[in-house]
Amino acid sequence: MITAILFDLDGTLFDHRAAADTAITGWVSRHAPAHPRLGEAAALWESLEIPHLAAWHAGECSWQEQRRRRVRALCAELELDVPLGADAAVDTAFADYAELYRQGWVAYPDAAGALAGLAEFRLGVLTNGAQRPQEEKVRAIGLGGLLGPVLTGESLGGHFKPAPACYTGAAAALGLPPEQVLLVGDDVDKDVTGPAAIGMPSVWLDRLGTPPPPGFPRITTLHGLRDVLAADPAHP
Ligand SMILES: [Mg+2]
Repeated sequence: MITAILFDLDGTLFDHRAAADTAITGWVSRHAPAHPRLGEAAALWESLEIPHLAAWHAGECSWQEQRRRRVRALCAELELDVPLGADAAVDTAFADYAELYRQGWVAYPDAAGALAGLAEFRLGVLTNGAQRPQEEKVRAIGLGGLLGPVLTGESLGGHFKPAPACYTGAAAALGLPPEQVLLVGDDVDKDVTGPAAIGMPSVWLDRLGTPPPPGFPRITTLHGLRDVLAADPAHP
């Protein structure tokens, strides 16, 4: 019986990609308004997220250091004339980007309504982002009153999705066995197959219409979750 539902945050409840794309494009254009590769900045920034966040998840660098690495790599690739000698200068550069990113924080249009319709479940977040920024984000996008705990790999002993200990830790934080917790998210490895491997049910939120992994429930908006739950014989 499912008694709690955990949602991924970025790409599931919150449109991280749109906010990040707009912010980094604005940031680059501030430094180089007519940069010939301005149109590539968003994709380049996205490509830098994966390896540098992975290094942080692996404990190879701090949260702040992975930010610096991304800024330095982007500026090197685009040959931007940004002062990057000292870490403090890079932190200032990232803070300017972060301010633009924050201006784009908005929940997906289906998030609030879908969460409000699931009031009989305990609801929360399980995200690979850092604890404080993700908590701020949940509040800023207006979902704080609809969600319970914001669980992060950072708060779960450094175990990030798709590490099995992340899911078992999240269930334990709720005081429930994994079988009673449903994870909903947009990332197949981190939100769908990862939790299933330890017995936590999962639903794939496919906002982009990509080929589904076989054998898992798939929804294209959060409103589809009710139908999945209704079709589950384990659900009361
Ligand atoms: Mg996600």
